[in-house]
Amino acid sequence: MERSSILNKTTCPYCGVGCGIEIATDEQGKTTVRGDTDHPANFGKLCSKGSTLAHTLVEEGRLLHPKINGLRASWDQATQFIGRQFQQILDQHGPGSVAFYVSGQLLTEDYYVANKLMKGFLGSANIDTNSRLCMSSAVAAHKRAFGEDAVPGCYEDLELADLMILTGSNTAWCHPILFQRIKAAKEQRPKMKVVVIDPRKTASCEIADLHLPIKPGMDVKLFNGLLHYLAEHHKLDTTYIADHSDGIHDTLTYARQDAADLDQVATACDLPVQDIATFYHWFAQHDRTVTCFSQGINQSSQGTDKGNAIINCHIATGRIGKPGATPFSLTGQPNAMGGREVGGLSNQLAAHMEFNASDLKRVKHFWKAPNMATHAGLKAVDLFDAIERGGVKAIWIMGTNPVVSLPDADQVKRALQKAQLVVVSDCIEHTDTSAFAQVLLPAAGWGEKDGTVTNSERRISRQRGVLTSAGEARQDWRILTDVARAMGYSSQFPYQTAGDVFREHAALTGLANNGKRQLDISELETLSDAEYDSLQPIQWPVMDDMGSDRLYGNGRFSTQNKRAQLVPVRSKPTAHLLTQQWPLALNTGRVRDQWHTMTRTALAPPLTAHKAEPYVELHPDTARIYGIQPHSFVKVSSQWGSVTLKADITDSIRPGDVFVPMHWNDQWSRNSRIGAVVNPAVDAISGQPESKHTPCLIEPW
Ligand code: SF4
Repeated sequence: MERSSILNKTTCPYCGVGCGIEIATDEQGKTTVRGDTDHPANFGKLCSKGSTLAHTLVEEGRLLHPKINGLRASWDQATQFIGRQFQQILDQHGPGSVAFYVSGQLLTEDYYVANKLMKGFLGSANIDTNSRLCMSSAVAAHKRAFGEDAVPGCYEDLELADLMILTGSNTAWCHPILFQRIKAAKEQRPKMKVVVIDPRKTASCEIADLHLPIKPGMDVKLFNGLLHYLAEHHKLDTTYIADHSDGIHDTLTYARQDAADLDQVATACDLPVQDIATFYHWFAQHDRTVTCFSQGINQSSQGTDKGNAIINCHIATGRIGKPGATPFSLTGQPNAMGGREVGGLSNQLAAHMEFNASDLKRVKHFWKAPNMATHAGLKAVDLFDAIERGGVKAIWIMGTNPVVSLPDADQVKRALQKAQLVVVSDCIEHTDTSAFAQVLLPAAGWGEKDGTVTNSERRISRQRGVLTSAGEARQDWRILTDVARAMGYSSQFPYQTAGDVFREHAALTGLANNGKRQLDISELETLSDAEYDSLQPIQWPVMDDMGSDRLYGNGRFSTQNKRAQLVPVRSKPTAHLLTQQWPLALNTGRVRDQWHTMTRTALAPPLTAHKAEPYVELHPDTARIYGIQPHSFVKVSSQWGSVTLKADITDSIRPGDVFVPMHWNDQWSRNSRIGAVVNPAVDAISGQPESKHTPCLIEPW
């Protein structure tokens, strides 16, 4: 692999913190990385994953050439083949028969072109993303409360808060640099309080003044109880509520009915009354409160309601968009936000537009689209169901590994076996998913590709291609452009560079906006190539050449009437209840030093030192009841599938709960895909799977 000798600035490809990185190659061709001291997300710091990125820049294992039915093909043959196959299936079965399944690993430019091709030219909205698995409940909650999928705060708020609540987020492992920023702020201001709400005693509890090991699924109850407590203790901001919000009456009624008193909340959440009282008292006392929430809230059959239960407490206390006061959705992936901005979810259009007549007309005209999709497409779990049932016949999977990561993952295998056409574009040749591909397309990887990503605080940063691509690998936006041209759409896909795509996306945000939406970067549509290349990290909306650190501080929201919406919510049981046959609650999540299905992080030897193999966490009481010895093999099964893992017996987990990391897969360790065990129930609004609660059984193996 040939490498540039120029030091370049780029962005980490792992989590949604979006740290800036400097990458350089010395005269011997050795590439090194270090934190970018100028980047406002990390100020030069990197976590274990980011700092070992240079280890992953190897050609071994890379997919180097296009392949059709296992045989090497030219790019021209591959793109023509895909274009022909998609067109034939469209002609025979209509637009509902084709789909793309994409990834929060794609850059915004890749996402934009994929979304445009599917929704404007193939005539279907069947393009969904693995962001559905991590953030779609937060998206839905934002839209219900604010009228738009927008995070109101910025990272500085995490340092300014007097009360920091981390709920459903092991920030220490999943967003390590943000955790370090919070920890440093607490060291400087010891009066800053930190509350961790998580069924497990995670590494984030290191800085917690209070840990609430809540019973899985009970978050709405806890936050409804908080809202009711605030009302009872006259701690609501009645002026803010009256001036800037709707729905207080019904929301308070629901909260009171759902969580009448502390005892009721304590029993339902399986928490000590005194600890709940302390949490509620602290919330009432601290105007500068930030509530960070992540997958522990989102990955639930009630994930959207959970998000709104949290946001309700912030609206009702006027703690939105002010320094040190905001609800804060921590995005899992490096570009889940950017994907959402260009319409990467099947139920939204580009630039945060919706499937309504005026937005559809606007986008169709802008794209000169001949076959505009008219309604929302299938969400991830439904999409793979439709493939197995035969309704969707062609699927193009980009930069993701659904055979490992989707719930009921063996169903995904059955679906891909049934599909008429499976195209996979990826950096890595052999994955659990690529084994099912008829067409394999080599995608350029981190360090090789150009574009932008948006992090959890709405900050757009450049990823820069400074390395020569491995083999014949190409950038995803270019592969998609070539297929669009092969299908006869050359004039509508004229892009020569990632900058061309970015400018078009920026222009569309202006057209979409009409003063309605916060997502507006139209000032960037006139960037020259050189300006795009040197673009500095900037937060949307961009106005007068400046980014915006906070939103909604003036009390005007993106809803029709500009008022925030309080959403009445009631706690509900998890989709599948524990039974005699399946008596334990399976929870899944990340470990500190691995990423997703390990296709990249497993290439860095230092990262395997932290957790060398897949495991299942069990409480000592659970281990005793089921006859499990420390470090022995355990079969974890549910009605959907089973895996075999080593026991890690620890009192950091609740008795009766079971935790398994999401990363390992059959490429690295036989029979370890926990996705095969996870239930496929989804949130009815967001479509996000309930990956945090599956009834299961454990047995010695
Ligand atoms: Fe990369 Fe996230 Fe670590 Fe920053 S915190 S270096 S973005 S993995």
